[in-house]
Amino acid sequence: MRIGVFVCWCGSNIGGVVDVPRVAVEAARFPHVAHSVDYKYTCSEPGQKMIVDAIKEHKLDRVVVASCSPRLHEPTFRQTIARAGLNPYLLEMVNIREQCSWVHAKEPDKATAKAIDLVRMAVAKAALLEPLFEGAIPVTKKALVVGGGIAGIQAALDIADAGHKVILVEREPTIGGKMVMLDKTFPTLDCSACISTPKMVAVAQHPNIELVTYAEVTAVSGYIGNFSVTIKQKARYVDHASCTGCGTCWEKCPKKVPGEFNQYLDNRKAIYIPFPQAVPNKPCIDAANCRLLNGQKCGVCAKVCPAGAIDYEQKDEYRQVEVGAIVMATGYDLFNWAQAYGEYGYGKFPDVITGLQFERLVNASGPTGGKIVRPSDGKEPQNVVFIKCVGSRDEAKGKAYCSRACCLYTAKHAHQVLEKIPGSRAFVFYMDVRTPGKAYEEFYQRTVNEGARYIRGRVSKISRLGDKLLVRGADTLLGSQVEIEADLVVLATAMVPAENSRELARTIGFTTDQDGFFQEAHPKLRPVEANTAGIFLAGTCQGPKDIPDTVAQASAAAVKVCALFAKQEIATNPMIAEVNETHCQGCLLCRDVCPFKAIEAKTISDKAHGTVKTRPVARVNAGLCQGCGSCTASCRSGAIDLKGFSNEQIASAVKAFLCC
Ligand code: FAD
Ligand code: SF4
Ligand code: SF4
Repeated sequence: MRIGVFVCWCGSNIGGVVDVPRVAVEAARFPHVAHSVDYKYTCSEPGQKMIVDAIKEHKLDRVVVASCSPRLHEPTFRQTIARAGLNPYLLEMVNIREQCSWVHAKEPDKATAKAIDLVRMAVAKAALLEPLFEGAIPVTKKALVVGGGIAGIQAALDIADAGHKVILVEREPTIGGKMVMLDKTFPTLDCSACISTPKMVAVAQHPNIELVTYAEVTAVSGYIGNFSVTIKQKARYVDHASCTGCGTCWEKCPKKVPGEFNQYLDNRKAIYIPFPQAVPNKPCIDAANCRLLNGQKCGVCAKVCPAGAIDYEQKDEYRQVEVGAIVMATGYDLFNWAQAYGEYGYGKFPDVITGLQFERLVNASGPTGGKIVRPSDGKEPQNVVFIKCVGSRDEAKGKAYCSRACCLYTAKHAHQVLEKIPGSRAFVFYMDVRTPGKAYEEFYQRTVNEGARYIRGRVSKISRLGDKLLVRGADTLLGSQVEIEADLVVLATAMVPAENSRELARTIGFTTDQDGFFQEAHPKLRPVEANTAGIFLAGTCQGPKDIPDTVAQASAAAVKVCALFAKQEIATNPMIAEVNETHCQGCLLCRDVCPFKAIEAKTISDKAHGTVKTRPVARVNAGLCQGCGSCTASCRSGAIDLKGFSNEQIASAVKAFLCC
């Protein structure tokens, strides 16, 4: 056996702390090491060439690279050694950057000693590496997009335009998400509905897209290229095949309910379409509020419907679809400020509203026809106070992160107040103004030049003052207290993951981050992929963002899907779990711990002394297993092992550390 060790400086990233040449010299003394060198940038073209040349010259049959995280460059170095004719899995990487130089930046000697230990362990493990071979699985060239906001719409259209079939599943009775609720969009102030509704129609009319609204994904099994998805079509109590969308039913329905689309600023009926341009433009009955479905006397809609489309007996229906890729685009909800910010008077002051409610007020198709008025008395406000970061960047009461769109939409709202209400004044309480987008800084400056008064500080309390609201806060720049008599207060509430995001991620089999947004596989290099192969992320379900970033990410996710569909077959990761059926006791603890639902039970027959006995054992689904190793740790009989990270290999690394 001849192992080559290559220790990287990563410029000064590693070399500025760790004594890299010393690590290489020490490594040369480890068992089986035939060649050991250090190099400034091992991942660079000359660095890779050096490895290829060394493999050939020194007849190396295993390679250890000590550099950055394998998450970053393991594929790079696998390809490098493959170019020299080695099996790509005869590589072991040691992370001496994140695990040594970065975390022990102030202790160079200890960082160096740790790097030497880690390389010693990697060499011991490398000596037991076996060649591994990728398998091939076929790809179903149909995509599922979950969520029909602008992210899901864009992803679905891009995939469909590339010639692939798409099923778009939306939870609500219409697609459009939040964008279609907005009035104008920063920084260009173009009409949001004018740019989003044509896309909604394009989705409905696209021959490659099947639109499934008022539906949810309830179960997913399978793996990249071959997912089997259960979709629940919620009962609409209206047969859309015969409904003509004439509107007679919702005109006559006697039951009024606060409407979601107008953010509860007006009412809809129990049978309704969310807004006039909804897609599909046919109603459904909100069962929780329908009189008849709650045992009261009614049935008006069935009586008046000229098409006989009302069906009170309709039930939820489940169907199974097969897809090769899934794009998650479930978007965001707004932070519930009611309890966290009691000092802003939730429930007491109807004139304290959210930014999304403001969007509906200022919108020509909104409940006031675009007139900005106070919900309490319908009067036009003169003094409007905007409070930013309500729930964002506030670890104590809300979320630590920045919601990224609020600075700009608050500037947009302040501009709209000043533009629409002569003599009005707009005050903005802020912590920072963040404008990291094209033409964003100019847009914000324009609002300031128009007269919006920005006050740096937090609002401590809102109280009633006659028919006005007294907003008290601190101006931290001037170091003084501020009191403003406001007619209307608008809160820029944080973006949070859509309701049930965590449960949905668990159902489908991928992970969420600490805030509940969907976790990308790598923040820089794989930002539109979930950490389960074949699942892609688009828009605000992955983290707060504005529309340009949402659309860009959706198109990127679509390209990833198309790249997957460009192949007839895809290679499978060979570093997966493997069951030793002789040792397996059939307890299936491994099945319970597997986060990717990759383990199932299978029955095998044992022949002993002329009799045949059947017993259950665990079986790994090679397409689903992501090689996380949870199962191997749970198996009490040591019957399940991970190829490339076997118990024996790990034990040899630990032994090398303990016995040095
Ligand atoms: P969403 O619009 O939230 O769409 C998600 C969709 O998924 C929804 O239709 C939802 O019903 C559906 N869904 C959720 N869960 C499920 C599920 N389990 N199954 C199926 N479907 C599901 N950005 C700008 O660039 N310019 C602006 O001027 C601007 N103004 C804004 C003003 C306000 C007040 C706010 C709050 C935001 C503003 N934004 C603006 C940001 C903008 O709203 C978002 O960037 C954009 O809407 C994100 O789109 P999305 O598709 O990711 O999410
Ligand atoms: Fe559809 Fe009948 Fe209502 Fe007209 S009255 S919108 S046909 S359900
Ligand atoms: Fe409205 Fe009555 Fe029809 Fe229910 S049965 S949707 S309450 S009209």
